[in-house]
Amino acid sequence: MLISTKVTALLLLWATLGFAACASLGGGSAQAKRQPRVEVSDFGRTQSGAPAERYTLDAGGALKVELTNYGAGVVAIHAPDRAGDYADLVLGFDDVRGYQSSANQYFGCTTGRVANRIREGRFQLNGNSYQLEVNNPPNHLHGGSSGLHTVLWLASPSTTADAAQVRFETFSPAGAGGYPGNLALVVTYTLNREDELRIDYEARTDAATPLNLTNHCYFNLAGAGSASVLEHELQIAAQRYTPVDATLIPDGRLEPLAGTVLDFRQPLAIGGRIAALDEEPTLGYDHNYVLEQALPLATDGPGPALAFACKLRDPASGRSLEIYTSEIGLQFYSGNFLFGQMGKAGQTYPYRSALCLEPQHFPDSVNQPHFPTTILEPGQVRRSTALYRFRAH
Ligand code: BGC
Repeated sequence: MLISTKVTALLLLWATLGFAACASLGGGSAQAKRQPRVEVSDFGRTQSGAPAERYTLDAGGALKVELTNYGAGVVAIHAPDRAGDYADLVLGFDDVRGYQSSANQYFGCTTGRVANRIREGRFQLNGNSYQLEVNNPPNHLHGGSSGLHTVLWLASPSTTADAAQVRFETFSPAGAGGYPGNLALVVTYTLNREDELRIDYEARTDAATPLNLTNHCYFNLAGAGSASVLEHELQIAAQRYTPVDATLIPDGRLEPLAGTVLDFRQPLAIGGRIAALDEEPTLGYDHNYVLEQALPLATDGPGPALAFACKLRDPASGRSLEIYTSEIGLQFYSGNFLFGQMGKAGQTYPYRSALCLEPQHFPDSVNQPHFPTTILEPGQVRRSTALYRFRAH
C-alpha cells in the first residue's frame, strides 16, 4: 500500500514535470518564437590588413546562415536532416585568408561583374573594343582575378519580425577588371523563418556595361567535406541548353536536352550518367540550362517574379534544396575542378564532392547577339533575385 502510494506520487510528479516540459517546448508559441538576429564576428584580416567580418543569421527557423563581407559571400549554411541532425551544406574557409588563397574556386561568393565565360575576354560595345583579363585561358571567367569576389563590401545587418538580413553594397569604378561604367551594386541576403534564403541583386551604371551576377555556392546536402555528390538527385526545369565548344564557350545554339545525358527534366541521380561526360571538354556537368520559367512563385518581396529552376535532393539525409529565380539560365557545374583542397575545420574537398547551381544569364552573351542581353544601360536599374528553399523529409 505504502509502495503503491509512493509510485502514484512519483507518477504524478513525472506527469506534471513532463507536462511542464511539453508546455515550454510547444505551447505558447508566441513566447517560444525566437526573435530573428544577426551576430557580427571577426573573420580575420585580409593580406593587406583590412578587417573582414562574419554575419551569422538566425531567423528563428531551423537554418543558420553565415555570410562574409569579403566577396559578399556565403560561408556556411547549417541545416538539419530528417532526424534533426545538423550539417554545414556549403564549401568554404574558416577565415578571409582561406578565401584569398589559391584553394578558393569562387566558394560562395557574389560572382561578377560578369559571371561565367567571355570568349577571349573580348567584346565590342557602342563602337569601343574592350579586352578583359584572360584568367581562364583562352577566356575571361567570373569577372577576372580581381572580380567582385575579392572586394570587401560595405555591410548593413538588420532584422524584421520574421527575417534576418544583411545588405552588402559596393561601388565598382569604371575600368575595374577592364569593364566600362561606374557601377553601384547592392546584394541583399534575407533569411526567413521558413528556411528560405533569398538573394536580391540591384545594379546601376553611368555607362553601358555587361553585367551578369550570381552566387557561387558549392553544395553538398550530406554536409561539406562528404566524399561525393553523385548520389544526389537533381531536377532542372529546362528543355534546352547552350552547347559549348572545347573552351566552354557557347556555339550560339539552343539545343533540346531530350535524349542527352544532360536531361534532368525528371529527378535523376547525378552520378547515373556522368561518366559519359568524363572525356568531354567540360569534364562532367558544366552546362548552361535554358530555364522554362514556368510555375511562377508568388513573391511578396520587392524583387521580380520568380520561377522554379531546380531541385536537389540527398536521399540519404532527406535534405533538399529548391531554387527559384528571376534569371533565364542555370549553370550546373558538378565540381569537376575540385582537387582535394582543404577547407573549413580541416576538411578536404575532393573531385565532385560538391556542385554549383548558378542562376544567371547565358555565358558569353555579350558576344552572342541573339542571346538575351546582359548590357545594363545608364538610367536602368537591373534587379534579379534567387530564392533557396531548404527542407528535410
Ligand atoms: C564554371 C566552371 C568553373 C568554376 C570555377 C563554374 O561556374 O562553370 O567551369 O571551373 O565555376 O570555380
